[in-house]
Order: sequence, then C-alpha cells, then structure tokens
Amino acid sequence: MDFSPSERSLALQEQLHSFYERHIIPRWREWQIAIKRNNIREPDFVQDLRAEAKREGLWNMAVVNLGDGDPGTRLRNLEFAPLAEYMGRYHGSALVFNCQPPDVPNMIALEHDANAEQRERWLLPLLEGDMRSAFAMTEYDVASSDATNLRTSIRRDGDDYVINGHKWYITGAAHPDCEFFIVVGQTNPEAAPARQHSTIIVPTRTPGVRVSRELSYLGSRDATAPIGEVFFENVRVSSNNLLGREGDGFVSGQVRLGPARVHHCMRAIGNCEMLIELMMARAQERATFGRQIAKYDSVQNEIANSRIELEQARLMVQKTAWLLDRDGFRSARQEVSMIKVAVAQTYHRIADRALHIFGAMGGSEDTPIATAFSWARAFRIGDGPDEVHLRQIYRMEKQAALPLADSVHILPTS
Ligand SMILES: Cc1cc2nc3c(=O)[nH]c(=O)nc-3n(C[C@H](O)[C@H](O)[C@H](O)COP(=O)(O)OP(=O)(O)OC[C@H]3O[C@@H](n4cnc5c(N)ncnc54)[C@H](O)[C@@H]3O)c2cc1C
Repeated sequence: MDFSPSERSLALQEQLHSFYERHIIPRWREWQIAIKRNNIREPDFVQDLRAEAKREGLWNMAVVNLGDGDPGTRLRNLEFAPLAEYMGRYHGSALVFNCQPPDVPNMIALEHDANAEQRERWLLPLLEGDMRSAFAMTEYDVASSDATNLRTSIRRDGDDYVINGHKWYITGAAHPDCEFFIVVGQTNPEAAPARQHSTIIVPTRTPGVRVSRELSYLGSRDATAPIGEVFFENVRVSSNNLLGREGDGFVSGQVRLGPARVHHCMRAIGNCEMLIELMMARAQERATFGRQIAKYDSVQNEIANSRIELEQARLMVQKTAWLLDRDGFRSARQEVSMIKVAVAQTYHRIADRALHIFGAMGGSEDTPIATAFSWARAFRIGDGPDEVHLRQIYRMEKQAALPLADSVHILPTS
C-alpha cells in the first residue's frame, strides 16, 4: 500500500491552500455571521468565489470518472482525500469548489447510471454548478435504516411513473436551487426484498412535489444544503426518468456511497484537526486553581487520545481510498462501512472533548465547536446509524471466518 501523494495532488493541495488564504479565510467570519446570526443561506460573495475556483481549475475534484470534455479536475480518491480534509476544516466550504454533498454523490450516481439524455439534462448542469440536487430515501413513517422498509411507491402508468410518498431529512431539498431529486421507492412490492426498489429522477417543480419545511439537527441548520421534508403526491414523470433498471435501486445507492463516504470522512478528519488546534489553544490560555488548564494530566490525555484516534482514522480512510481506486467498490465494502463507523465515532468523541475543554463557550455560537458537535452526532445517524454498519461488518467477517480447527491451534486436553 502506498499512500504517498501524487505530484498532481501535491500541486493542487498547494493551490487549494493558497485559495483559502487569499479568498476564504479573510471572509470566513463574515460568512459564518451571515449564516448563524442573519439566517442567510450564503452571502453573495460565495457565487463569486465559485466562479473564481472554477477559473483556477479547483472544480469537481471529487468525481473520478468524468467523461471527456466534462468540466472539472478529476482526481483519484486517494488524491482527493487531502483536499477534502482541508475543505473540512471550514464546514460547508466544499461548496466553493463544487465538491459539496449531496451533489457529488448524486453526480457519481448519474455518472454511473444515467443514459445520454439524463446526462445532458441533469449531470452536466450539476458539473457546471448551475443547479443543485437532493437524494430522497429516508421516510417519515418507517425505520429507514432498513432500506427494505421504504414504502414510497413508484407505479408504472402507461409511459409514465406516478410517485407517492413522504420523505424527510433530505439534505439539500430546501435549497431554492435544488432542481431535482433522486428518489428511492418501490416499483414492485411482489419482487424479492432486494429487487423491489428503484431510483427515479423527479424535477422539483413537477406538480405534486411539496417541500413542506426546512429541518435542523440538534438546532443546527445546514446552510449550504438545507434539509427538507418532502411530500410526493401523485407526482407524474416520464418513464425515461428512471435511473438504471427497475429493481436496481439499492445497487445505485451503493455506487454513490463508496467514494461519498471517503469524502465525508476526510472532511470530518479536517474538522477534527481544527478542533484539536482549538483545544490546544484554549487549554494554554486559561488557568484554574493556580494552574494552566493544559498542565492537568486529564486535559493532556484528552488531547493526546484525540491525536491517536485521528491518526488511526486517517490511515483507515486512506487505505479505503487506495482500495477503491485499485479495485472498485465491491472489494472495499467492508472498509467503507468500517470508516463510516470509526470516523463518525472519532469525530463525535473529539468534538465532545473540545466542547468540554471550552467550558460554556464550547456550546455557544462564538466558536465552530457547537456546529462541529451537532454534525459529528448527525454523522453517526445519517447514511445509516452505527449499528447498521456494524451488523454489515460482522456479516462480512462471518463470511470470511475460517472453521475453528483450521484457524486455532488447540492444545490436547490430556
Ligand atoms: C443531518 C442528516 C442529514 C440526512 N440527510 C439525508 C438525505 O440527504 N437523504 C436521505 O434519504 N436521508 C438523510 N438522512 C436520514 C438518515 O439517513 C436516516 O436518519 C438514517 O438512515 C436512519 O433512519 P431513521 O431515521 O429512519 O432511523 P431508524 O431506522 O428508525 O433507526 C433508529 C435507531 O434504531 C436503532 N437501530 C436500527 N437498526 C438497528 C440494528 N440493526 N441494531 C441495533 N439498533 C438498530 C439505532 O439506534 C437507530 O439510530 C439524514 C439524517 C440526518 C441526521
């Protein structure tokens, strides 16, 4: 295994850091005040920054298999990982480079499954940054971490499909520029459980689509991709909108998730780096009972453990990226589930430590810690709770397990 960065990745890292120093860091405070105090989704300068990033070639770095002539700098997962990590330090800033969820995972799904017409109509504008999108899977009425529970119906009617369902916690759905949903629903309730569901493209402005409200998580709004509750009531779309084949819904879901989880994990790791820096600074700045807080063993242990866990997490994600690049999603399935659990839990622990070391201030809106804490907690639920991935990891472990007699040297009892 070789995780050393390619020359191209190193050059782009340098370029990205310089972009942050010139354009993002000087405006970061203004951006955060706009979101947190003034309830603005994104200040006007964000669109200017996107145009500048595109001009400088820092665009669509997260989509590996772009076609010839598609806009963007395609990178392998391992090459993109350090860039995603840097973006993660500044929560939400991946938007500047068109590397933001849920659009990137949707680009990956479209790149894999879309026919020529769908590519032209939906993928290219996403790659250009001219529209936004959402992935609608989770349902209000059923435990959606078991995808076979999903009940939204996608019923064939002549040349059309008619969709009825109630989705919620759909990231990006409440953004005014969200032009379409990739909806997961049931096309054939009689088929085997893994073949009942399909994915279909539903334009947001189709009659019967209703985004009823914006949701927050632990009080945090996702400003760059606002979360929505969505009703689909007798929504009629052409049968040409089906993505892939009927019954392939879960396969499409998996395709978008492999690289997307690597990106998400690397952004979380970047956010953790920032949290460790904040803990270090705060612990040295204040004193209790005649001693600098940083001088207490318990505080040093919290910071040291954060460093150990973060290094472990980064190495796991790099290995997963390396495997995905070399062998594709099928051979990296267990690793992809493992990083989803390990990084979400590490992020949650480190954010909790930072929250604690900062005292009351950690929970205020004056630092990025409260936001980090809520997104770290969400990460343990979103895209499948820990338990669902652990179950999957155990099942793969069980498949690979050798019979006891072959794997252990058992001493005779006499
Ligand atoms: C911030 C955020 C953004 C999101 N964005 C999207 C999005 O863009 N699109 C989308 O479709 N969804 C999205 N989701 C939804 C998310 O994917 C679901 O919440 C998640 O899959 C869990 O489904 P559920 O909420 O129905 O929980 P349930 O399925 O009801 O599960 C609840 C709990 O049951 C327990 N549980 C479940 N299975 C097991 C098991 N096998 N063993 C032990 N315990 C178990 C766990 O404690 C679990 O947390 C988002 C969620 C959040 C928080």
